Amino acid sequence: MKKTKYLIIGAGITGLTFANYVDDYLIVEKDEKIGGYCKTIKKNGFVFDYAGHFFHFKTDEWKKFFLDNVKNSELVKKNKCTKIYYKDKLIDYPFQMNIHQLEKQDFINCLYDLFNKEEKEKYSNFLEMLYGKFGKSITEMFLKPYNEKLYAVDLKKLDTNAMGRFFPYADKEQIIKNMKEENANSYNNTFLYPKEGAEFFIEILEKKLNSEKILLNTTIEKINLKEKYVIVNNDEKIYFEYLINTIPFNNFLKLTEEKEYIELSKKLSYNKVLVLNLGFNKKSKYTQEHWIYVPEKEYNYYRVGFYNNILGQDKLSLYIEIGLSKDDKVNVDLELKKTLENLKVQHIIDKDMKLEESEIILMNPAYVHIEDKTNKQIDNVMKKMNENNIYSIGRYGAWTYCSMEDCMISAKELASKLMKGK
Ligand SMILES: Cc1cc2nc3c(=O)[nH]c(=O)nc-3n(C[C@H](O)[C@H](O)[C@H](O)COP(=O)(O)OP(=O)(O)OC[C@H]3O[C@@H](n4cnc5c(N)ncnc54)[C@H](O)[C@@H]3O)c2cc1C
Repeated sequence: MKKTKYLIIGAGITGLTFANYVDDYLIVEKDEKIGGYCKTIKKNGFVFDYAGHFFHFKTDEWKKFFLDNVKNSELVKKNKCTKIYYKDKLIDYPFQMNIHQLEKQDFINCLYDLFNKEEKEKYSNFLEMLYGKFGKSITEMFLKPYNEKLYAVDLKKLDTNAMGRFFPYADKEQIIKNMKEENANSYNNTFLYPKEGAEFFIEILEKKLNSEKILLNTTIEKINLKEKYVIVNNDEKIYFEYLINTIPFNNFLKLTEEKEYIELSKKLSYNKVLVLNLGFNKKSKYTQEHWIYVPEKEYNYYRVGFYNNILGQDKLSLYIEIGLSKDDKVNVDLELKKTLENLKVQHIIDKDMKLEESEIILMNPAYVHIEDKTNKQIDNVMKKMNENNIYSIGRYGAWTYCSMEDCMISAKELASKLMKGK
């Protein structure tokens, strides 16, 4: 009979970090490789991630951990250069801080609405919050269409706090001040990136682990929470004392086969992102931008990232992010065709540029929809599970919006807490 103290579901950044801080563990991973969404695919000199995966550290601890383990020569440090493509022109990101870069009439409309917005003490949803805090024009020119493309959902469904600390808030005073001093880049302004892609960092987390304790190509099919075992590969049982889940919470709930949990899993909403990684035969005329936000609906993508401008490569290497609702059928050929046409319209590629390599990835889920109506239920279920030594962590496990660093912080915190109590 197989038994472990800490059974970890998923060998992404969260599961691997957790394993680094406990003694007796077993990681079960359905894929043939570790890394989850932090995998890197290298093709013919192009380094493709699951869309760019950048490290914007908020804590010194994890920044130090990263820098201590990655040589300077293996790393790029960048001052973020991010733009918004709006009405055939680039303006600086975030939109609300840079309305003075818009055409005169658009600028006047944004400013007028900013001063005449109807702020409330409390908002009932994300969209209402956008109108209340930024006014009609900023909301309708950028915040609403962009977030609708990204989340592929009616923004009225989302909680006001759907993006947590990642939403670039700015008040009137900051917006006006920025027109004079142009200090918009104070928002999350630098990032680090391993030249070999995000997976390079995953390999550091893997180094300290015992490879025999990572079961690849092994899918958890059923979880018995009462008797504390999981079933993998048809009928093999693995018993545990503590269960650490990092797979999407909705899927985790389904695996328990408990009625109450299955009902909750059906209520959880999220969307997919189709990532088109595209490598071309030569450079684009866009040589500085790291990524560009594309709010307008006539373009099928919401963001275009330039790996080559980050990594200093000669040939154009892009990641294109396309938001899809969870039920949308994915038509890769059609999206690729539309993308290549749109890149030409935006002059990111020209007619002489040839596509040399591509890697298509579907991130499903990509963004979980944080909704008022399910927040409480999720909290209650998590609490109940914690009392039974079952924990669900990471961006998808905890059903939240967070970064890789946040995933590492929560994994280490939980591991340390459980190890102290042993
Ligand atoms: C478009 C996009 C861009 C992003 N960019 C950034 C960025 O620039 N910077 C940043 O910090 N964060 C970024 N993120 C967030 C980042 O990807 C996540 O926070 C992080 O990768 C989550 O890691 P995880 O280990 O919690 O989950 P995952 O990486 O999803 O790992 C879960 C693992 O569980 C495995 N699994 C699933 N089901 C089973 C099963 N039944 N049995 C066994 N194993 C299973 C999966 O194969 C996977 O390996 C981005 C996310 C998206 C969607």
